[in-house]
Amino acid sequence: MRFSEIIGQEEIKERLLKSFYDQRIAHALMFLGPEGSGNLALALSFAQYISCPQKTESDSCGTCPTCRKFQSNQFADLYFSFPYFNTDDRDMSDHFSKEWREVLAESYNFDTDHWRNALTRDNKQLIFGVKEAASIIRKLSLTSYEGGYKFMVVWMAELMKTETANKLLKIVEEPPEKTIFLFVACSIDSILPTILSRVQVIPVPKLSDADIEQALEKEGVSADQASAIAHYADGNWWKARQLSKANDPNILYSTQFIEWMRICYSRDVGKIARWVESMNEKTREEKKDFIVYALDQVRQNLMLNYAGEGLVRMNTGERDFSVKFSRFINELNAIELMNELNDAHRDISRNALSTIVFTDLSLKFHRLLIRQPETTP
Ligand SMILES: [Zn+2]
Repeated sequence: MRFSEIIGQEEIKERLLKSFYDQRIAHALMFLGPEGSGNLALALSFAQYISCPQKTESDSCGTCPTCRKFQSNQFADLYFSFPYFNTDDRDMSDHFSKEWREVLAESYNFDTDHWRNALTRDNKQLIFGVKEAASIIRKLSLTSYEGGYKFMVVWMAELMKTETANKLLKIVEEPPEKTIFLFVACSIDSILPTILSRVQVIPVPKLSDADIEQALEKEGVSADQASAIAHYADGNWWKARQLSKANDPNILYSTQFIEWMRICYSRDVGKIARWVESMNEKTREEKKDFIVYALDQVRQNLMLNYAGEGLVRMNTGERDFSVKFSRFINELNAIELMNELNDAHRDISRNALSTIVFTDLSLKFHRLLIRQPETTP
């Protein structure tokens, strides 16, 4: 991947180029940024840049044999380590390299949910088992096949167990000659301090709405749609791509939201049960997206109720519904409604049973929606 193919992140590209020209490339870098920010893409494009024999001042050439190998993920000195579902007979990331290459061929921006689904629909925990450390050390002891630098890309480094990380401390601190560790991680909180202290951290910010809009428009998405998608994607290019591929994400979610609000308000238990069942059929990522959408609608309705139309971002269908609905979102319930949605989002992320989460949420919504300010007679 060339730098020019990465959306936004110009400052980071410049920082990487500068480290190359100053000959101050750290032997262990950590690209630390949220999902969909392009952190893996940045790591890979930097490796390609370092290796390309025909690079310009600002990018790899993209056409030489080395670049072509990188672009098809076949560069012999580019190694990957990533979390997997550890079992007795499949206990190293090498055992999942077929799935890994398929996912990489599709995008460098995928998230952990996508990777989990590529492995199996099972909701086991992704980890780097202890044997993975030995595998990394063995690979890096091999002589360079292509004659230049060797790269070890460790994706989602925060999922590394302490036991595994401890076995790697020495090699991360002093890698063999011409070897660069490129760690990729989303959350600094979960990274072991022993690893963190041995790497140079490159913070990767989430993408701006403008970057996402521009990139979507380049792919033929209309300006209106691109702006709506960027709003929901919240800096996550992977999510933006998924939303843009759905037929019409706004209509999809708004229909469900409107139906849900009606059945919550009426507290029709049978309808709630059927709605919960329909939610249960969605993937975890879709459930989370729906909750994010609902959260935004609560916020928009509150604004519509208090601040009027001017500040509100809604499409026509949402507006038609909210003209009447917005009065139910007020100072007595808005904060609690948002808290409930945030809790539900967290629970779904942690694999709680979605039938329980959505039933509970629907009943709480009923209780909160009927809480109305006393109207003056
Ligand atoms: Zn090249």
